[in-house]
Amino acid sequence: MVSDSELYSIWQRVLEKFQQKLDNHVFSVFFKDSYIYSIKGNAMFIVWNSKSTATLIENKYKNDVNEAINEVTGSYYQIKHITEEDLNNNSNLKLKEEDVFFKESSLYSQYTFDNFVMGISNKEAAQNSLIVASNPGVMYNPLFIYSDSGLGKTHLLHAIGNYVKESSPRTNILIITTEQFVDEYTKAARGEEDINKLKEFIKKVDILLIDDIQFLANKPKTEEFFFPIFNYFVSNNKQIVLTSDKKPQDLDGLDQRLVTRFSQGLSVNISKPDKDTCVNILKMKIEQEQLNLKFSEDSLSFIADNCSKSVRELEGSLTKILSYSITIKPTDSVDLDYAIQALKGLYGSGKSSILTEERIIDEVAKYYNLTSQQILGHSQIKIISLARHLSMYLIKELMDLPYTKIGYIFGGKDHTTIMSACNKIEKMCKTDPQMWNVVNNLKDKLSAK
Ligand code: ADP
Ligand code: MG
Repeated sequence: MVSDSELYSIWQRVLEKFQQKLDNHVFSVFFKDSYIYSIKGNAMFIVWNSKSTATLIENKYKNDVNEAINEVTGSYYQIKHITEEDLNNNSNLKLKEEDVFFKESSLYSQYTFDNFVMGISNKEAAQNSLIVASNPGVMYNPLFIYSDSGLGKTHLLHAIGNYVKESSPRTNILIITTEQFVDEYTKAARGEEDINKLKEFIKKVDILLIDDIQFLANKPKTEEFFFPIFNYFVSNNKQIVLTSDKKPQDLDGLDQRLVTRFSQGLSVNISKPDKDTCVNILKMKIEQEQLNLKFSEDSLSFIADNCSKSVRELEGSLTKILSYSITIKPTDSVDLDYAIQALKGLYGSGKSSILTEERIIDEVAKYYNLTSQQILGHSQIKIISLARHLSMYLIKELMDLPYTKIGYIFGGKDHTTIMSACNKIEKMCKTDPQMWNVVNNLKDKLSAK
């Protein structure tokens, strides 16, 4: 359940966007006094000051509102424009809580096929993802995409979701992390939810997209629950797409029956991108982020040469150059020397120090004498959950990732959970000098060149 203060904070950000865009008069007549009444599952209810305003928004600003909410939250919602009168008259709006599962699932609109750069390393995976997205359930079931981390699995999974959503909006898509699946099953098994309803809910889905299925390993009960669901999808020609860090045959700790089923569709691998692909990805990211920076060919080639591990690393280099150009040495064009200077210290020492979420979590873990696994896990022990909140906050502050993306890093937590963690740490910094110190020390350490 999203708290009122979180709803308020989302809506304030949305309003800021409109305030900048719209004439003051228009803004104050229509947008003032509006608020988000609630978010339930995928539905968001926005209350407007009158029926005519709600109609106007519906007719004229619907797409803008959708877009602004998507920018702020990183998620797509089914948005309903209502008035206070509706609230008073219609008890349905008090919204049924039942039968809504996987409230934290969310389709990232920013991951599409259009902005996925193809090269030899990922062509097979990308093309087959597109085939599956254009013709779900027909060609291969499941489609199983595997690779090392940071090479585009999650991107392709969401691209499939976005493509299907666009081409047939009525299709019922469920896109989740394996961790979300395990959590939902665990709640049901504990009796907090009705396990049969959960099963029925999943069976009604048309396309099931599950990220990082390797996390199903060593969870025999969840596997047992998943097995018949999986079979149901395959035998009813409903598409399943799974991603994993290993090919099915190499997954340890997984029921052999599942391994066999996983390999019965098509398994495709993504390998590390070659240099040309890296350069193309860099160009795409520069264009997409609308960076006001011109990069010379040799600077791009230098960045590509030095990122050997993943696309995430390429993105880290770009972020670093961007922040260098804003805070240290303003420029609007990056040549080879500039790139070398900006990235000095990142490459060459053998150990990369590019700012990534892994590094942030690592540093926080070190500071509190914990392990990264503890921070990424579920423990509610006070110090661990503080370290977790602090990591979320630092990732937001230093990398400026959208809340949904941070939620994803922490196993598919809702963006509002991340938002409240960030608010909490921010407040603590104001009232607790020790916390302020910790935060600043960590920030210095993480942004050290
Ligand atoms: P994985 O799930 O395999 O760990 P992700 O899908 O999260 O990797 O990819 C990491 C980052 O790299 C994402 O921001 C993604 O958009 C980007 N990325 C990966 N491959 C490509 C590509 N071929 N074109 C554009 N961006 C890519
Ligand atoms: Mg991933």
